Amino acid sequence: MKRVALLGATGSIGRQAVEIVESHPELQLVAAASGSQPLDGLAPLTQVGGDLTELLERAEPDVVLNAVVGFAGLPATLWALERGVTLALANKESLVAAGELALEAQERGGGLLLPVDSEHSAAFQCLEGRAPEQVDSLVLTGSGGPFRGRKREELEDVTPQEALAHPTWNMGPKITVDSATLANKGLELIEAHFLLGLPYDRIEVVLQPTSVVHALVRLRDGASLGHLGYPDMRVPISFALTYPERAETPLPGLDLAGGLVLEFEAPDLETFPLLALARRAGEQGGTYPCAFNAANEVAVAAFLEGRLPFLGIAETVEEALADVDGAPARNLDDLVEADTAARRLAERGLAVR
Ligand code: NAD
Ligand code: MG
Repeated sequence: MKRVALLGATGSIGRQAVEIVESHPELQLVAAASGSQPLDGLAPLTQVGGDLTELLERAEPDVVLNAVVGFAGLPATLWALERGVTLALANKESLVAAGELALEAQERGGGLLLPVDSEHSAAFQCLEGRAPEQVDSLVLTGSGGPFRGRKREELEDVTPQEALAHPTWNMGPKITVDSATLANKGLELIEAHFLLGLPYDRIEVVLQPTSVVHALVRLRDGASLGHLGYPDMRVPISFALTYPERAETPLPGLDLAGGLVLEFEAPDLETFPLLALARRAGEQGGTYPCAFNAANEVAVAAFLEGRLPFLGIAETVEEALADVDGAPARNLDDLVEADTAARRLAERGLAVR
């Protein structure tokens, strides 16, 4: 029996995780948390809002599935890693903001950090059991979002409703907007750097519009290993929760005879500048990735509230990052400070637009 604590239980990932837990008798939901929505007896221990680590202390889980959205998920990520409790991580923002601290905590705790983000789950599986020197590079794939192929002038007036119409994935609002700006691929690039231990110049981003190829690993002998499947988060959720058994899911295998389109293209970095901004923040290191994430959270919220045009998201992040003082990320306090400062800069940018 595996005791599962599910954080962000009412969200897109959270609801799919409940489905996976319910279909596996060996998985037991011992705690569930949300930000504000009621949980109505979903688990023996529930918590709406508040300090998630208090819930985790009481729940004594074997695995924490962190499916909270945003920087708010960070204390729970560090809690699990520090204690060697298996962490199934959907909350990419915590690893982006606190990558170095998270890896140090994992080293002390000695537990597993299993990706739930589909690309990272795919890459993890392609890399598993492979000696690092055999690996040349990682290819992170992305759909390109609803605005793939458009130029800047065609994005001036796009609405939140249009940005929320993702072509291949059905997800929460924040990550869906991030997919439309390519900030999501930028966050994933930083996430992959920490999670898979690869330098930034060995992580490439490529668009694959049907979202069937979740990641590719290029090996030094010229071979590439890919991970394919229909876009459905229940697969990586199930993989992480049932690791290493890899339990069955009700999902169909690929229908190859029915025709499968696998085209690749380069992302348009000029139209979607957040991907390159994220790469630069990652390379700068220290608190820069944390600041990138914070400014992006503020800008996305403003866009969803109708306070900022779509193209203003990248502008707000770029301006905030230009004013950030880079600092080493030594502890959680440093990160909370960097997060707060970057949020303030982004809000100030919004106020003077
Ligand atoms: P969502 O908006 O649908 O759900 C977010 C959940 O977090 C909700 O249950 C909400 O109540 C909870 N929450 C928010 N703030 C909280 C707080 N302060 N304390 C406790 N709970 C809080 O988001 P989602 O799409 O499920 O995404 C969750 C995370 O998973 C994000 O980090 C996202 O990037 C990542 N992710 C999602 C998908 C997907 O398909 N949805 C895919 C890959 C990665
Ligand atoms: Mg992803």
